[in-house]
Amino acid sequence: MSPPRLPGCFSALFHRSSKPSGKANKDATNKSPAPKYEDVYKSDLTPPCRQMNLCCDFSYAPPEKWWPSEGEEKPPAYSPSDSLKDIYRPDVLRTIERKLDELNPELRDLSLQIHGHPELGFEEKFAHDLLTDFMFSHGFTVTRHYLGLDTAWRAEFQRSEGGRVLGINSEMDALPGMGHACGHNLIAMSGVGVAIAVKAALEAHDIPGKVILLGTPAEEGGGGKIILLDRGGYDEMDACVMCHPSPGPQQSASTGSTNAMQPINVEYFGLAAHAGASPWEGTNALDAAFLAYSGISVLRQQIKPDHRVHGIIGPGKDWAVNVIPDYASMQWIIRTATYPELKVFQERVVACLQAAAMATGCEYKITYGLPYYDLHQNPAMGEEFSKIVGHRYGFITSTDGSTASTDFGNVTYRLPSLHPMFAIPTSPGGGNHTPAFAQSASTKAAHDAAIVITKGLAHTGLRLLSDDAFFAQVQCAHQMVNGK
Ligand SMILES: [Zn+2]
Ligand SMILES: [Zn+2]
Repeated sequence: MSPPRLPGCFSALFHRSSKPSGKANKDATNKSPAPKYEDVYKSDLTPPCRQMNLCCDFSYAPPEKWWPSEGEEKPPAYSPSDSLKDIYRPDVLRTIERKLDELNPELRDLSLQIHGHPELGFEEKFAHDLLTDFMFSHGFTVTRHYLGLDTAWRAEFQRSEGGRVLGINSEMDALPGMGHACGHNLIAMSGVGVAIAVKAALEAHDIPGKVILLGTPAEEGGGGKIILLDRGGYDEMDACVMCHPSPGPQQSASTGSTNAMQPINVEYFGLAAHAGASPWEGTNALDAAFLAYSGISVLRQQIKPDHRVHGIIGPGKDWAVNVIPDYASMQWIIRTATYPELKVFQERVVACLQAAAMATGCEYKITYGLPYYDLHQNPAMGEEFSKIVGHRYGFITSTDGSTASTDFGNVTYRLPSLHPMFAIPTSPGGGNHTPAFAQSASTKAAHDAAIVITKGLAHTGLRLLSDDAFFAQVQCAHQMVNGK
């Protein structure tokens, strides 16, 4: 079902960019050509309000353009185009493709096993063991329980002496009660695929270099990558890549940004009293929580369209209906397009939390979680990736952003990085963080799309290792997007 048109939708305010990158589909000759960019993004009937997404929605196109679930439309065959125009080292690309095609049944099995054993952040024990065993069996040197995190891991392969170092990330965590509703089973599988395909290419073409695949826990709130980053897990890397599934048009991807995010927890401390006999003797901590909720709800009308603030009340402690609650807690997340904006927005939200304490006479304590930075996608890597998946597989890559957030943003501030979002088939209203998306993340069509993206990332990564001129461009682009 399409959402109603939004009166007063000043679309220019909502989308950061709608410029396609790469020369998608120009030379594609496969039987399932991708839709034209103009058809996908520019319709007279649909204002492109694509930043009006759900808070945790990685989609980068309006819902009426989403690729419908399997069964409603025949999935594309992804026959590679014969044209290798403008593609770096076609011989190496063919090696990568052959390896991933050969590995495909095992990758599908890995993805489905992880999907069938959903685990919350920092509890990804099944995925940790499955993936480290798999990487070891494919000739990687494996470090389990990496850098003090029980479910983090590292798999390394070095070809010859010297050369550059390509980093890759595999996320593994699921969501409470929904399973893999963010599709991290596909991300885990793709990271493994990129690492093994690049290893095969380094060996087959005798290219020096190193591949480091990190298993990164707790993307859904724990900031596993930030912890690994702070502990030196990315120090050796010259660049890093990963991908993320989302709703979107069929055969499309985005190398746009995502929002910065700050988790904020607040606790209110009051005084218990008999709610019927002597309520005036109590100080109601739950009242403070409700006032804070109301204050922030009022604030929400005065914030920018791409800002987000969302919270829940709880957990409480020893609550009973006939007792004035002496304790309440709330968990909030705030999001803005850039990290500097986040600090400004945070002050306004914290003022609401403090005001509620003052109004009720409660004491309060505010605790800040690890902030996630916005994504600084590397434009040179994005252009290279877009060219490969566009020319070879007919994918359209845009630079439209999303209001979701990822701890990979912090990685992109530190080193040249790429994090394409890619479309999988979804049902109406079935974006990231819904039970329907968990179902989508297990489909064959979603897997096939992830494999195309994996090929594109592997070849982009391989070029980083083997082409000095390209790496210089990537470094230059990194300095540009990070303002250095
Ligand atoms: Zn998520
Ligand atoms: Zn996710």
